[in-house]
Amino acid sequence: MYSLPSVIMVPDKKEKSDTKKLNIALVGLGNYAGALAYGLENSKCCRLAAIVTGHPEKANEWKKQYGIPDKNIYNYQNFDEIKNNRDIDLVYVVLPNSMHKEFTVRAAKAGKHVICEKPMATSSKDCMEMIKACKDAGVQLAIGYRLHYEPYHKEIKRLGQEKIFGQVRFIEAGLGYKVDDGSNWRFKKAMAGGGPLMDLGVYCVQSCRYVLGEEPIAVSAQYGPNTNKKIFSEVEASIAWQFEFPGGTFTNCISSYNANVDRFFASADEGQFELSPGLSHGPFKGKTSKGELSFPDINQQATQLDEIGKLILDYKPLSSHITGEEGLKDILIIEGIYRAAESGKKIALV
Ligand code: NAD
Repeated sequence: MYSLPSVIMVPDKKEKSDTKKLNIALVGLGNYAGALAYGLENSKCCRLAAIVTGHPEKANEWKKQYGIPDKNIYNYQNFDEIKNNRDIDLVYVVLPNSMHKEFTVRAAKAGKHVICEKPMATSSKDCMEMIKACKDAGVQLAIGYRLHYEPYHKEIKRLGQEKIFGQVRFIEAGLGYKVDDGSNWRFKKAMAGGGPLMDLGVYCVQSCRYVLGEEPIAVSAQYGPNTNKKIFSEVEASIAWQFEFPGGTFTNCISSYNANVDRFFASADEGQFELSPGLSHGPFKGKTSKGELSFPDINQQATQLDEIGKLILDYKPLSSHITGEEGLKDILIIEGIYRAAESGKKIALV
């Protein structure tokens, strides 16, 4: 449930009235920041206004490409000065997972709204600190759950929650890809918080939860074989887990760095629905027992930014399904999945 920040900071409306777009600072200019910059170019209510990077040469490239003024370019050391920059409304944290907490807290202290990429953080303790920092500062905190705005995902959520094919009894959700280079921060436990479960499994956890509109009550889990001891010396190569939901649904999920899988399948009393490709970046394909699903292939980042941007520009609270509280729920569940895999026991999730 979304709970309002103790104080909602209302920016100076006079200043805002001639700035129709929400001004966003991207922190961390890696791969996904590129997709977000493209989304921002196509966004109706947000614009790329500032960048925060540790690499001066990258700052120069982005400055030229996106026309960013020097006064809106920061590095990780002087980032806190963004507090004095009234041009910036929101900070979008696109850094390695272990850095999400620090930059979310610093952005909140600077009085800026925050969108933080998934997974929210590397521990539930960090998630709680992030939520508190944003509440204390009176700013809003969203997690970059782009699939919540994607038409195929909105449809499977409707089919499941409205029981269009009756009660869902069984779900299979899997996301994985094969890696052959272990040099990325994603393979360092301290930076990533875990392996494919943190990075990709969060989409499986999310989809089970939003299709059913319920929270899992128990989980069992198993690590897959370590197929490359060099790459997977700190994080799992793959992990499978099974949730039990209060309505009686059983699920089978997998996330992997050594198998290509991208699929969501639900079996209900009176029919089935599925997406394949289903949980990656798309384009998605889907069908139900009544036929093909057909929705436009949208710019997911632009759509997500517009939906969040509209609410913030109107001084409205964010929808509960994309807030920090939602990110925390996923991390608590992921911690439960790891405990289940480590112990070999079924773990209660409460
Ligand atoms: P990336 O490695 O491409 O980019 C990371 C950025 O962080 C780089 O610009 C790098 O220079 C910077 N950085 C700063 N300090 C660093 C350090 N100590 N070590 C490594 N990099 C450092 O990663 P990415 O794929 O852009 O992922 C960034 C975040 O975005 C992650 O949390 C990831 O889970 C998330 N993400 C989300 C989606 C989505 O669809 N929502 C997709 C991809 C990634």
